[in-house]
Amino acid sequence: MNANDFDREHLWHPYTSTINPLPTYEVDHCEGCTIVLADGTRLIDGMASWWCEIHGYNHPRLNAAVERQLAKMSHVMFGGLTHRPAIELGRKLLELAPKSMNNVFYADSGSVATEVAMKMAVQAATSRHGSHRRTNFATIRSGYHGDTWNAMSVCDPVTGMHGAFGTALPVRYFAPSPSVTFWSEWDASDFEPMERLLRDHVDELAGVILEPIVQGAGGMRFYHPQYLRELRRVCDELGIYLIFDEIATGFWRTGRCFAAEHAGVEPDIMMVGKGLTGGYMTLSAVMTTKDVADTISRGEAGVMMHGPTFMANPLACAVALESLTMLGEQDMASRISSLEAKIKKLIAPAADFASVADVRTLGAIGVVEMKQPVNVGIFQAECVKRGIWVRPFGRNVYIMPPYVISDSELETLVGQMLEIIR
Ligand SMILES: *Cc1c(COP(=O)(O)O)cnc(C)c1O
Repeated sequence: MNANDFDREHLWHPYTSTINPLPTYEVDHCEGCTIVLADGTRLIDGMASWWCEIHGYNHPRLNAAVERQLAKMSHVMFGGLTHRPAIELGRKLLELAPKSMNNVFYADSGSVATEVAMKMAVQAATSRHGSHRRTNFATIRSGYHGDTWNAMSVCDPVTGMHGAFGTALPVRYFAPSPSVTFWSEWDASDFEPMERLLRDHVDELAGVILEPIVQGAGGMRFYHPQYLRELRRVCDELGIYLIFDEIATGFWRTGRCFAAEHAGVEPDIMMVGKGLTGGYMTLSAVMTTKDVADTISRGEAGVMMHGPTFMANPLACAVALESLTMLGEQDMASRISSLEAKIKKLIAPAADFASVADVRTLGAIGVVEMKQPVNVGIFQAECVKRGIWVRPFGRNVYIMPPYVISDSELETLVGQMLEIIR
């Protein structure tokens, strides 16, 4: 059996049927913003490998950081032991995060970070209120928080996995997704359903979880910062923990280090992942306030009840630390704003295509929303023919390129993408 057939017959790819799998393309190596396929085809990457490869592939400094750490230890348990990469990364994360963040919990992936954040909220709420009544969550529709059990339960109930898993999932409270866009004038009625929901169910709620400003995998929607300010006000009043999922938005993707900075709002708990290691390996972190951390520690269990085997993996921490150091050496605000201006200009012509419903850009995210769902297999075959890599979902064709993409690469990427759309 040749390699391709083996892959098709035996390997599961994300969200893939074994009966009718979409084609896969074998990658030989990557460099900068280029993916090189086994047959030599070169693709300009518009996805940053699901939004995490922010410095580009095969970066000498990130490679060196991994190699330095590899020579010391690739892993050691975090129970009872600690190490410099974890300490220095924690220091750096807290420097970047909102002032109120004080404690860092390292986890394996974005989805696990969601589980940990939700567990923190439940443990803190249980300790704070002295009962197990307030253990549920509210969120907004069109959200995405990962593929594990509780993460699925707060993903969009229609486009998410509620259909497939039905009553196996815990039942959460959903407010409509915000409809006032990032750029529009604020309309107070946009927040009313959420406020009503929180007031009606306050006795059951530990927390509200949502992606600040950008709803990513749930629909690439960009909403108004005022929504988050209103949410902060009501959560404070009702004693509900506010959880920001910055896994997709963190580390400058939206033009600020964290998307919540657009609103000037600080959460009680926040998660980061994806870009954290510059796309080198899986690592996430959950940060919280001293108040939440100490409230958990005063509770029934007396400890945060989570401790994965590969917690704070030293290789992952070392490369994350180098990635954040590299971001810190650049003027990222102006880098992303110039990238945003270029994407906006290049993508604008799509607004006139008959098949296109909307075109929008925020930070290093450019979205062409189609009127009809896109056939991913056909679209990607066209991409490979034309030397670009874009993977649409639903009705969205979008790019989230590595921040280091050059002007000419970006022109080819967006130009070819629009040709395919047309
Ligand atoms: C990707 C993503 C996750 C899940 O992260 P994984 O590393 O894939 O488990 C959670 N939340 C948001 C907002 C994401 O974009």
